[in-house]
Amino acid sequence: MEHALGTVERPLRVAIIGAGPAGFYAAEALLKQPTLTVSIDIFNHFPYPYGLVRDGVAPDHQSIKAVTRVYDKLLQDPRVRYFGNVTFGADVTRDEILRLYDQVVYAVGAQSDRHMDIPGEDLDGSFPATIFVGWYNGHPDYADLDFDLSGERAVVVGVGNVAVDVARILVRDPDELAATDISDVALERLRHSQIREVVILGRRGPAQAAFTSQELKEFGELKGVNVVIDPADLELDPDSQEALAIDKVAARNMELLRGYAARTDHSRPRTLRIRFLVSPVELIDDHVGSVKAVRIERNRLEKNRQGKLLSRGIGEYEVLPATLVLRSVGYRSVPLKGVPFDQTTYTIMNIGGRVVDPHDTEPLPGEYVVGWAKRGPNGIIGTNKPDAVATVQAMLADAPTLLGVSAESRDPARVDALLRAKGIDYVSFEDWQVLDRHETEQGTKAGRPRVKVTSVAEMLKVIRGKKAT
Ligand code: NAP
Repeated sequence: MEHALGTVERPLRVAIIGAGPAGFYAAEALLKQPTLTVSIDIFNHFPYPYGLVRDGVAPDHQSIKAVTRVYDKLLQDPRVRYFGNVTFGADVTRDEILRLYDQVVYAVGAQSDRHMDIPGEDLDGSFPATIFVGWYNGHPDYADLDFDLSGERAVVVGVGNVAVDVARILVRDPDELAATDISDVALERLRHSQIREVVILGRRGPAQAAFTSQELKEFGELKGVNVVIDPADLELDPDSQEALAIDKVAARNMELLRGYAARTDHSRPRTLRIRFLVSPVELIDDHVGSVKAVRIERNRLEKNRQGKLLSRGIGEYEVLPATLVLRSVGYRSVPLKGVPFDQTTYTIMNIGGRVVDPHDTEPLPGEYVVGWAKRGPNGIIGTNKPDAVATVQAMLADAPTLLGVSAESRDPARVDALLRAKGIDYVSFEDWQVLDRHETEQGTKAGRPRVKVTSVAEMLKVIRGKKAT
């Protein structure tokens, strides 16, 4: 007799692709099911787990990184195995995963950035904020980049929390950053930074800013930093005024912004200037391929048919000299080989977390998605919890209808065998703990939470017991 999937006789085999918050909350939701017998393998591109908690959360926000303790507990659960340093689509294919597991959950986040589509966007000195974030966090793909911080002014485009993070890191006292796990290369560069002013540009008004109040409040507490806002930028149109009555975050933001605008002592050595209702329309070339200024246009707000307030240029321009431009206009997911992708929303094609066939929007049996790859790059770490729970509910509802893979295919040893046969130097949770201990020990010596190893080759050397160079 065939037993139902998820029973003691026939445990459910699940692969989770991506070891960031969304992937962990999917694992947690599965493990918490009182009557479900499940075994989970988590695959991750980099040897280390945690995704944006390690690579995205700012180094001066260590308390947020404490959430990794919850993820470690999940990795220690005997029902969970970790396969780091395994890239979906390259090291293992979708077909191979579908042959080995009853269900797969894509939890790959958003690896790229949105574009502004303006002339000069790709000049030297203009970067997606996501890359700058990766750089200071020691992300292996960006750790070796060299940011020229020799100019006096940087411009950050966008008023979300990433914009707030990169602006804060640019003006924060390097001695304070030295006590964090910021990458050594970035710390050294920031110590010699000549940047005295960071201008943050919001295309809409202050009531539409995407940053949250705690992050905005932190600006005002930075040592040696003026926060400057023109009070005229805070004058609200009637629609924005109305919106404040129902949007508590926007109302609190306005309170903080008004407090900054009222400050008159601007004598500190570094300045954060926040501007609203302005859009960059061109990055201006210094004639040798680098950015020397940003042409900005003033905007007004206009309601669209759905009643949303959008920005529209009014033909008044200004040139703002700057040698570093960080475009912080949002992350963007990239397609996974063989997995349906919606090129308009930049998400894996899904309905309520079930991956669907692009031709008939019917669910593809056994394929699911969570997190930013499912809903787009929004929300804080905790937002991924209910998001993952919803997908797991769909998985559990579907389980009885799935055929599942054969007894032979679902043998956990097959996964190791496949990876070994392909010559993939995969990393287990115990392996990661070796690297983790190495980094934290180096950190203890230097009075820091950890000193990150920033190249995959070095990580593997540490893990395999060879001394990192
Ligand atoms: P975000 O919150 O979506 O903000 C993007 C910003 O870019 C918005 O101000 C948006 O303005 C602006 N923008 C988009 N296209 C633009 C264009 N063409 N020109 C000018 N401005 C443009 O994205 P994010 O800052 O990347 O953050 C991603 C998510 O991570 C957010 O949910 C955020 O809260 C979260 N996060 C949280 C923390 C934290 O909790 N400390 C830290 C970092 C990130 P419009 O509103 O006009 O579109």
